[in-house]
Amino acid sequence: MGSHLIDRLLARGDEVICIDNFVTGRSENLAHLDGDVRFTRIEQDVTAPLGIDGGIDAVLHLASPASPVDYAAHPIATLEAGTVGTHQALRLALEKGARFLMASTSEVYGDPLEHPQREAYWGHVNPVGPRSVYDEAKRAAEAYVMAYHRTYQLDTRIARIFNTYGPRMRRDDGRAVPQFVTQALNNESVTVYGDGSQTRSLCYVDDLVSGLLLLLESDHVMPVNLGNPNEITIHRLAERVITLCGSSSGIELRDLPEDDPRRRCPDISTARSVLGWTPSMTLDEGLSRTIEWWRREWADVAEPAASVIS
Ligand code: UDP
Repeated sequence: MGSHLIDRLLARGDEVICIDNFVTGRSENLAHLDGDVRFTRIEQDVTAPLGIDGGIDAVLHLASPASPVDYAAHPIATLEAGTVGTHQALRLALEKGARFLMASTSEVYGDPLEHPQREAYWGHVNPVGPRSVYDEAKRAAEAYVMAYHRTYQLDTRIARIFNTYGPRMRRDDGRAVPQFVTQALNNESVTVYGDGSQTRSLCYVDDLVSGLLLLLESDHVMPVNLGNPNEITIHRLAERVITLCGSSSGIELRDLPEDDPRRRCPDISTARSVLGWTPSMTLDEGLSRTIEWWRREWADVAEPAASVIS
């Protein structure tokens, strides 16, 4: 998501400084920006003090592992990116007098008991489960942001980002879309966890980036859900990917990971009314674009897919 956001900021004329330690990111996603004088890349952990020379108008804090497989592999780093990393990024914004935007997540709602999820819902999170390192860190991050807003009147924004997909994801990312596309293109079994009746609502990355930029430009301090409200079962998603890949793969059911949310769908009425934002990309079109990129990028290699957590 970060590299897509950077492309959009550069295209509208901004200068961008990107800080990333690439613990789960792909540095190749920034390779096309080498030599662009308006782009600076700093390889650093967000939890270390962020010393930047010169003025900054906005700090956008997206740094964190975001796939359940990744945050199970990097539990402490995930906790620290959301807590210490958020604190460092907020200090930078305060020092520079910059606006601050935090990428929060639908995971703050946990395995939700309310459906669809409105921003006013406080969530249903297991504080000691395998997802807690991500969920609780992002909940703490929201608390940090509000504390800086209330204590220092820092100009802050919180985006609660629901499942997002598109080109540039890692082949071994482990999330449903990259996993299914990799498996389908290799004509391997597509691994659906549980019976596949759990739902997600998938937003194409370009739509999400538009929402983030509108939120940044708005004056809305309280959290805003950003995601596509079209809910789909994971089994149906696997079928669509197989069809769109023209694959001969079958579906293989595997154990459902612990605390896997049963249903997830954003109520985006705040984003619609405050930002005038609605995602426009259909799932089939977004998946087709993703698959097309995947074919080009990963044409030559077939690697075992990532394994399920727990
Ligand atoms: N999932 C699956 N097979 C996979 C990867 C994921 O069935 O190979 C399921 C997962 O159990 C969850 C849904 O797809 O119910 C979305 O998982 P993902 O990791 O993309 O994101 P989450 O919304 O769980 O953070």
